[in-house]
Amino acid sequence: MLKVSKFGGSSLATADQVRQVCDIITADPARRLIVVSAPGKRHSQDIKVTDLLIAAASERLMGKIGASECAEAIERYRNIATELELPAEVVEPIARDLTERLEGSTDDADFYIDTMKAGGEDNCARLIAQVLQARGVEAHYVNPKDAGLLLSDEPGNAQVLPEAYNRLRNLSERPGITIFPGFFGYSKEGHIVTFSRGGSDITGAILASAVRAEVYENFTDVDSVFAANPSIVSDPTPISELTYREMRELSYAGFSVFHDEALEPVYRAMVPVHIRNTNNPKAAGTLIVPHCNSRKTPVVGIAAMSNVCCVYLSKYLMNRQIGFGRRLLQILEGENISFEHVPSGIDNMSVILREENLPVEKEKRVVEKIRQTLAPEDVSVERDLSLIMVVGEGMQHTVGVASRATGALASSNVNIEIINQGSNEVSMMFGVKSTDMDTAVRALYKEFFNGSSNSTTE
Ligand code: ASP
Repeated sequence: MLKVSKFGGSSLATADQVRQVCDIITADPARRLIVVSAPGKRHSQDIKVTDLLIAAASERLMGKIGASECAEAIERYRNIATELELPAEVVEPIARDLTERLEGSTDDADFYIDTMKAGGEDNCARLIAQVLQARGVEAHYVNPKDAGLLLSDEPGNAQVLPEAYNRLRNLSERPGITIFPGFFGYSKEGHIVTFSRGGSDITGAILASAVRAEVYENFTDVDSVFAANPSIVSDPTPISELTYREMRELSYAGFSVFHDEALEPVYRAMVPVHIRNTNNPKAAGTLIVPHCNSRKTPVVGIAAMSNVCCVYLSKYLMNRQIGFGRRLLQILEGENISFEHVPSGIDNMSVILREENLPVEKEKRVVEKIRQTLAPEDVSVERDLSLIMVVGEGMQHTVGVASRATGALASSNVNIEIINQGSNEVSMMFGVKSTDMDTAVRALYKEFFNGSSNSTTE
């Protein structure tokens, strides 16, 4: 029996937390493949080790030294090691490694930043292996390169290469407990490359899939996934079980408890994911599984994401013009812009994007190209939008969910700018002005979760 257990940065921020993590690891002999993040924030004003390393790299790239940020990161490991009464020499290789990274080649800025970022996880994994060894436990650090974690050549946004899975399979044969650093792997050319932020979840999912783990445990700092963001809705309902598709939709739209890209690998291998709290390991947590047969309500959660914009264009008889949509999306492709949704009518089309993908200078070029290539009657870009996702597999079998959702938004005076429902009917998307986002989430939560109103599916 083999469990892959991943511990996030908030679970590794202090010596006490590290102690707790080691207790959890050793409490179950099935926990033999452990993925760790870099130490996170100790309190709300603190800085994550990853952010310290990014700051150090940015300083160096601007021609400065970056040494103070790097020293601060080293200090974080030293504090943990000292409080755990590990010998002082344990921190020396960590200090050397981070300093070497800082002073390394900056010829390619993107690979340089990734090398620095990866140092947070890499050294944390070495440290945790030593903490366990000091307890007399057989634990070994493994480097992702030696293990075969091959990633695409996309610094800061890498994806796993299919051949990595076969190579990683051997990890299940290793003796003792394997401590694997999250967040990074290696390109075929041998460069260190990282996933997008929060990517240690992805590492854990890839390993769990490769070794066909019994379960992928994702230890974080909350008791479960909740039906809405607790900073918007007070005391939201905990979710005990979710399907992969539901979790993907919720994490995509802002549920940061689990990285949305981490679902694909576990889904492929049908490995269940168990979200658990390091600080309260007795809590039931949330289980992510292929199917949820017990749930009787259509909606499982309401997510919201801000910083969205919409490119809108209209042209009479657009529906008769072959290739109109393709040419529009090709303009975005030419600018290296990925899009989120494309709702359309007979004579109009909207493309919804994350604002970070359409900075003002790109917007000007995109609008100009649209005018030249497609000659629309109208083209405009609306910013400051938010997307609200109402998510639940049960919506497929329930009549009237859309009407209840739109009714709830209307009663709260929220104007719906965009509506879209994917054909899989797992989610319904509403675009609203960002100033209405919180009101919209509360209205929908009240409609589907307060009282008896989340009525049962057929
Ligand atoms: N340490 C990385 C970050 O802060 C990756 C992770 O935490 O999963 O994004």
